[in-house]
Amino acid sequence: MDSKVQAHTLAQGHELRIEVKPDKVLLLKLVQGEAEIFGTELALGEQLSLRGQKLAVFTWNGCTVELAAEDAQVDDVAESVYESDDTPMLSYLNVHESLEQRRRAAREAGTSGRTGPRTIVVGPTDVGKSSLCRILLNYAVRTGWAPTAVDLDIGQGSITVPGSIAATPVEGPIDVEEGMPIDLPLVFYYGHQTPTENPELYRAVVERMSSILDKRENVDVQAAGLIINTMGFIEGLGYELLLHAISALRADVVLVLGQERLFNQLKTHLRAQQRVSVVRLHSSGGVVSRTPPVRKQARMQRVKEYFYGVRGDLSPHSQTIRLDDLRIYRIGGGPRAPTSALPIGASSVADPIRVTPVSASLDLMHSMLAVSHAATPDQLLSVNVAGFVLITDVDIVQRTITYLAPCPGSLPGRYLIAGSFKVFLE
Ligand code: ATP
Repeated sequence: MDSKVQAHTLAQGHELRIEVKPDKVLLLKLVQGEAEIFGTELALGEQLSLRGQKLAVFTWNGCTVELAAEDAQVDDVAESVYESDDTPMLSYLNVHESLEQRRRAAREAGTSGRTGPRTIVVGPTDVGKSSLCRILLNYAVRTGWAPTAVDLDIGQGSITVPGSIAATPVEGPIDVEEGMPIDLPLVFYYGHQTPTENPELYRAVVERMSSILDKRENVDVQAAGLIINTMGFIEGLGYELLLHAISALRADVVLVLGQERLFNQLKTHLRAQQRVSVVRLHSSGGVVSRTPPVRKQARMQRVKEYFYGVRGDLSPHSQTIRLDDLRIYRIGGGPRAPTSALPIGASSVADPIRVTPVSASLDLMHSMLAVSHAATPDQLLSVNVAGFVLITDVDIVQRTITYLAPCPGSLPGRYLIAGSFKVFLE
């Protein structure tokens, strides 16, 4: 065997935890047995390229995998590779089985209005929420369903770019290299990196998404249910937004990862709602914590992938057009005046979900703008977005603007939404 190749044989119920260094590629191949990565089964003999990823290869029945690196040793591209037999996978499988029973019951009930499980995964940052969502989505796909993935985490954006909330049907196993399917996502642009910027707008987009998801009439789609990923912001306003998301999306299974306090808080709060089950699950010891700079870098990487593709194989298009040909709006009329600055008895008039036109200025430089499907400005809040452009230059003298778009041609809509999300691509 090539000395650069490392073989790892895993016993039943064990996992190999791998952290690939940022910007490095580790090659992985299943050579014997069965294995999965966050619920996606690996094909025997197929080579996967893991780009800067942190993940676990888990096996229910035992397997051998080979790791290698192009023109380098495995240790040159991997920060760590180690085996563990201490995983919460059995409890995750049990959760899947109980979701499965609810799906079947919903399908049998047909069009009676009974929906399948609406599962929301909550917990602090870095407890494995996204990974658990992925496992549950993949297990549902493996049993023949097409569940809907919903991502309410504006900080990372597992379905589309950060600053957005999104939903997408998952019809096949989630690709280990490419991530979530992005063919037909339903996307709303919130436009900021934290919900504290405009919580009313965050609530409004979550409600809007929920009402669109409710309109889907297909019995199988409704029976397959939702798997909802959330932000790790769970204190104060974060907790209020969690309760709001549970109620707006009518979640009936709340999976709490890693924090007993949050579990008890939610159990107490939701006690009166008999239909909601709150379940505490252990977080995997393999979950990797990310520092704020690493998170920021991951956000930029997500945007880069949106324009250039995960493998860097897409070519975005740069276009320069007249400023007057664009219609840019912002949702939320800027910061509200503090009550102390207002006459006694008056309240701030800034409406957090008011749509206001944005005049062209250098402030737009590096802004991510969403291209809306709206036909009029007053639909900007209620209609989903088609995609995103990144402003790379504003020429006030020539009155032109240059933007980067993922595809050539004219924009799919006339109205664009600006927020405060800025992106600096190297
Ligand atoms: P956030 O706070 O961003 O919402 P999260 O709670 O969703 O984070 P994940 O994104 O699921 O957490 O996990 C954090 C990191 O740990 C990810 O890079 C993920 O791929 C990695 N990870 C999760 N489980 C394992 C595991 N068992 N072995 C190795 N890496 C893992």
